[in-house]
Amino acid sequence: PQLINQIAAGEVVERPSSVVKELLENSLDAGANRIHIEVEQGGVRRIRIRDDGCGIPRHELALALSRHATSKITSLEDLERVASLGFRGEALPSIASVSRLTLTSAVAGEGSGWRLRGDGGDRFDDPEPAPHPVGTTIDVKDLFFNVPARRKFLRTERTEYGHLEEVVRRIGLSRFDVTLDLSHNGKSTLRLPAASSQAERDHRVAQVCGQAFIGQSVFIEQAAAGLRLEGWMGLPTFSRSQADLQYFYVNGRMVRDKVVSHAVRQAYQDVLYHGRHAAFVLYLTLDPVLVDVNAHPAKHEVRFRESRMVHDFLFSSLHRALAELRP
Ligand code: ADP
Ligand code: MG
Repeated sequence: PQLINQIAAGEVVERPSSVVKELLENSLDAGANRIHIEVEQGGVRRIRIRDDGCGIPRHELALALSRHATSKITSLEDLERVASLGFRGEALPSIASVSRLTLTSAVAGEGSGWRLRGDGGDRFDDPEPAPHPVGTTIDVKDLFFNVPARRKFLRTERTEYGHLEEVVRRIGLSRFDVTLDLSHNGKSTLRLPAASSQAERDHRVAQVCGQAFIGQSVFIEQAAAGLRLEGWMGLPTFSRSQADLQYFYVNGRMVRDKVVSHAVRQAYQDVLYHGRHAAFVLYLTLDPVLVDVNAHPAKHEVRFRESRMVHDFLFSSLHRALAELRP
């Protein structure tokens, strides 16, 4: 089973940012309101995530770290089939198999908390008592310490940290109601208090995308035929040199999609100056039956049932907003 965990980890855990993504999604699933993320050396040395979610009861700690009992892999031929099944229920065991992981958790009414330690193996001692408020802390140290081949593919601390912070930004823009705190090597790098008013939301977008973006963007809201688009559109005068600042969420999930980017590009085309890129943080909401956001969660793919209609709605909404803005 340990080998299987490590093989699964090859798919789930590519680098420190993938660990952060999986752990943050688990914290959100657990209903957390506040999440603290502390990382050292780009996350390679350590990733510690603390949440105030529902916690894991003592008797389920070991279960959370073990593969779901459906594994039927007995031969190499099975591997391809497994790869196509996806990895639901495999994130924690995968991460545990390629790091030194400690899981500490407490649920309401259990008194104290409990802790389970793993050392890259798939055997765990009995949980030991450990004081912890209701919620969960997962401490992942020395990522890939036992998989030299994967360690080789890690980039510089700066690059790994960059990927990791981007994961936190994306989640920060998808859950304004959750407080997120990120620190790197003991220094606070991103503080995102829960935001509900428009001013607080503006503030969060400024924290994530920069004051320059928020200063040169407008907030738009458009709705038609069951589709709703809202968010911040960078004015054509805004240019961000380094990376693209393009965040698009469909029903709360960040996506990168051809239909969306085409509509956006078309809408911006008239007003964009040469060499400048569209910058935006936009949220599309539509009836869940009209879209499959789980097509390829890892690849941020999405499938619209009525892609023509979505395209035209996006194009006309954005074009109208931009046209009104043009001096
Ligand atoms: P999945 O999220 O697909 O169920 P994971 O391997 O990511 O699989 O997590 C295994 C299980 O551990 C989850 O189903 C959940 O019950 C529990 N778990 C993991 N992280 C947390 C957390 N932060 N708070 C509460 N429960 C958690
Ligand atoms: Mg999970």
